[in-house]
Amino acid sequence: DLGGPLDGEEDAVKVVVRVRPPLPRELNGFRPFQNAVLVPPGQTPQVLTLSENLAALGTNGVENGIVYNSYRFGFDRVYGPESTQEELYVHSARNAVHNVLQGYNASIIAYGQTGTGKTYTMEGERSGHGRGIIPRAIEDVFDHIQRDAGGQACKFLVRASYLQIYNEVISDLLKPESSNLVVREDKRRGVHVEGLSEWVVRSPAEVYALMERGAAVRATGATKLNEISSRSHAIFMLIVEKSTPSASLDGEPGGGADQLNGNMGSSRGPGSARQSVKVGKLNLVDLAGSERVHVTGATGKRLEESKKINQSLSALGNVIAALTDPKGRDGRPHVPYRDSKLTRILEDSLGGNCKTTFMAMVSPAVEAFAESLSTLKFANRAK
Ligand code: ADP
Ligand code: MG
Repeated sequence: DLGGPLDGEEDAVKVVVRVRPPLPRELNGFRPFQNAVLVPPGQTPQVLTLSENLAALGTNGVENGIVYNSYRFGFDRVYGPESTQEELYVHSARNAVHNVLQGYNASIIAYGQTGTGKTYTMEGERSGHGRGIIPRAIEDVFDHIQRDAGGQACKFLVRASYLQIYNEVISDLLKPESSNLVVREDKRRGVHVEGLSEWVVRSPAEVYALMERGAAVRATGATKLNEISSRSHAIFMLIVEKSTPSASLDGEPGGGADQLNGNMGSSRGPGSARQSVKVGKLNLVDLAGSERVHVTGATGKRLEESKKINQSLSALGNVIAALTDPKGRDGRPHVPYRDSKLTRILEDSLGGNCKTTFMAMVSPAVEAFAESLSTLKFANRAK
């Protein structure tokens, strides 16, 4: 075991949960808002209680002869309704981003029922405290590049891609004429989406411009903006390539281990100086809504759509469960990457030396009890 690239004791897969605050429409709704999720206050909360009636919990969940359903779950971290975007980034995303700068791959994945805060957590606002993981990650990457490139003679190249998987069909959100793309694997590029456009970006502003363009393309395919985005998976990829003249690498601590673990290659750069190149890929994934299909209501196209969403989400759950299974890790368990387009695309960015943050989002409302329970069970299995 060569250990992780940053610190050995860090788990490769982190599973966290975020409970969004009640929305104004829930607080000012028809019926008084009823909370179903309890996160005990503390520095690093890891436990969460979901209950049909939190008020009755003091009496062991039994009140007036009615037995309420209550469940306690433990995760790597639980973010309560008061948690900030900054807390989430610092404690559950930053490490993955830094891994990418070292030449390793990472994935940050948002899972949950529609309306629980996946897009808010991943994207959030473009500026101010509400900035989500994507803008913070991008700023972090460019900050590092500026600092790092100042001292050494290394060169950075950052590329971005943005794709959508809808009905198991992959399309390029930055080149709308490219749809029905195919996942390929070869020695040189590893697992990749053939023909997916890659855009060289030099500043956070350029990345945001691409994201906006992709979001606009994503919306035009559907009658209602929210429709397709809740029924498709979106993956924003950032590829960071760092070239260092080989001479300066010899004195670099840990350089040898990097060479074994990372996506590293050697090439002759311009002027025939030997260069070592490290490539790290960051996948920022906003999944389709996990709400279960109510088979009776869904027919035809809708039913097919839902089946495909369920299939790819359960494939993802199976892959993460196989990767985190302590029994399987030594025995090299079968990791079923091939069961969906989503897991195929993420194949080289989950497990191994990659950092994965799986974020499950839940609503605090008692109306969402059944969906929240299903989300928490799914996340619990991925631990
Ligand atoms: P999803 O992408 O899972 O469907 P959204 O991210 O669109 O959900 O969130 C649904 C609504 O809840 C949005 O209006 C969003 O601004 C709001 N929201 C979600 N999470 C938070 C949060 N942590 N703080 C404040 N508002 C939030
Ligand atoms: Mg969304």
